Amino acid sequence: MNSPPPFVPTDSILTGVGASTGIAIGKALVYNHRDLHLPNYQLPNANLVPSELERLEKAKNQVREQLIASRESLPLALNSQAGIIDAHILLLDDPLLTGEANYLIREEHRNAEQAIACTLNKITTLMKNVTDEYISARLADVEIVGYSIITALLNNAASQLPNIPAGSILVVQDLNPAEVAKIVATKVAGLATERGGATSHTAIVAQALELPTVVGLKNIASRVVTGDTIILDGRNGHLIIRPNQETLTFYRTRQEMEWSFNAEIVRSAHLIAVTLDGHRVIIMSNMELEEELPAVMSYGSEGIGLYRTEFMYMNRKTLPTEKELFEVYRRIVESLAPNPVIIRTLDLGNDKIVESAPLVPLELNQALGLRGIRYCLHNRALFKTQLRAILRASVFGQVQIMLPMISNLDELRTTQAIISDLERNLKKDDQPYTPNLPIGVMIEIPATVFIARELAKEAAFFSVGTNDLIQYSLAVDRSNPEVSDIYQPLHPAILRMLHQILKIGRKTGTPISICGDISANDIIAPILIGLGATTLSMPPAAVPKIKRIIRMSSFSEMRSWSEKLLKTKTALEASKIATGYFHTKFPELLK
Ligand code: PEP
Ligand code: MG
Repeated sequence: MNSPPPFVPTDSILTGVGASTGIAIGKALVYNHRDLHLPNYQLPNANLVPSELERLEKAKNQVREQLIASRESLPLALNSQAGIIDAHILLLDDPLLTGEANYLIREEHRNAEQAIACTLNKITTLMKNVTDEYISARLADVEIVGYSIITALLNNAASQLPNIPAGSILVVQDLNPAEVAKIVATKVAGLATERGGATSHTAIVAQALELPTVVGLKNIASRVVTGDTIILDGRNGHLIIRPNQETLTFYRTRQEMEWSFNAEIVRSAHLIAVTLDGHRVIIMSNMELEEELPAVMSYGSEGIGLYRTEFMYMNRKTLPTEKELFEVYRRIVESLAPNPVIIRTLDLGNDKIVESAPLVPLELNQALGLRGIRYCLHNRALFKTQLRAILRASVFGQVQIMLPMISNLDELRTTQAIISDLERNLKKDDQPYTPNLPIGVMIEIPATVFIARELAKEAAFFSVGTNDLIQYSLAVDRSNPEVSDIYQPLHPAILRMLHQILKIGRKTGTPISICGDISANDIIAPILIGLGATTLSMPPAAVPKIKRIIRMSSFSEMRSWSEKLLKTKTALEASKIATGYFHTKFPELLK
């Protein structure tokens, strides 16, 4: 993260978490849910309890209808929001929220608005003590749904957002899905929120909309008033209030450089990624949902390097059938053909728990428990259904199977045996499939780096999942903000492991890609290539930019920078070198 230049007065800078890159300069539009004027009264007699409960029920139904309507009208870029909206619909009946509010109406005769508001206050108090980012994001969802109910009780639409003038920067606590739907239709220039972390739903939406956004700006509402000129730096997580002329000029220049760079990269998305000195790199996409297919195609990916299949099991009560899975896989494989689709088998467990699948027993240490391949080998019926669907879809294009969380050879061998068995069954059933599909493994448990030679003899390919490799190597929970400063992709141990695995891949002739988040990081991607990575897989929207960076670079230069990095003793030292390289090469992106 870069600091603002020295001429920006420090007392005008607020720092949060950069959730979606880009510079926005505009007038603030501050909207605070808490400013709603809530009626506060005691029901005069107990006879009024049923009608107050009914009023609450009606408001809930109104919010439900609005949520369903906004789900149906989601623009393509926001398809990942569908799951969040479904979760909000479920929250409408959550005992933590409306259960408690019903109790306050029944037992304490509170009016419905206050019953919800009191419940939300309790939740907010609870949230203050929660450090787990995931739990606090879920509690924030409860709050968003609660405020939607209150606005419905006040006979307002679920969103009270005022009209947003084009070019303004919206400053809010957080957004509910109805509000998200509303901002999509505006020409808002940026978004600043008090709540949320890098993985909050607001951050996800902002990235999908490519809207400069900073989240987690504590107390922002008390520092900024509507009409203030503000600058938002979504890359570095800064918000600058009432900038002076020098600051404005500096950020305007940076903004123009970014715009012209972005226009150029989108125009050239379909060109291949080859360095100035002729070194070819394959750039593929990670995807979670079929709905992302148009983005995958339009951003110029050369196939799917990681299809995270667990998302099809989420937000439903029953497991998907073989037929359902087959049809989705077939459509994806057919659309991408002749480019490959690497289908990763279910990676459930840890934080990826779904309602439809047999429960993972409650484990003390879920990250080290029944996750990924271990879960599937314990739930064979579910695993076989998925594998049969993949095998059947294989005849429609280029399918490869990838196994997550492999820690030893036995897991690979057992899965290969299951697949051979399924092939025999399919033959018996006269179902077409492609025999001998490439079966590869994820390198995301540190031990696999050290048994890579043995794995290479039996696996068709490797894909390095750096999100988990870093988590397990450095013993840092990847979703815990308390330890985010020691989640260090450029830690010497990580760089050396990457170097080693890439070398083994090259020596054994095993195709190897890197599919963790660092592949999409414009500072780290050139380093990975310098270390020897020839395939990177990343979210579709990152593809054009990384391709462009590669086309503007020379491989021999990237290699010599990476060699320097390999000699560093700390992540900080490595980060300085990597950022320095980026500064000199791409001043359009960083200044
Ligand atoms: C990884 O661990 O780097 C990876 C790509 O898989 P996931 O993020 O789905 O665990
Ligand atoms: Mg992983």
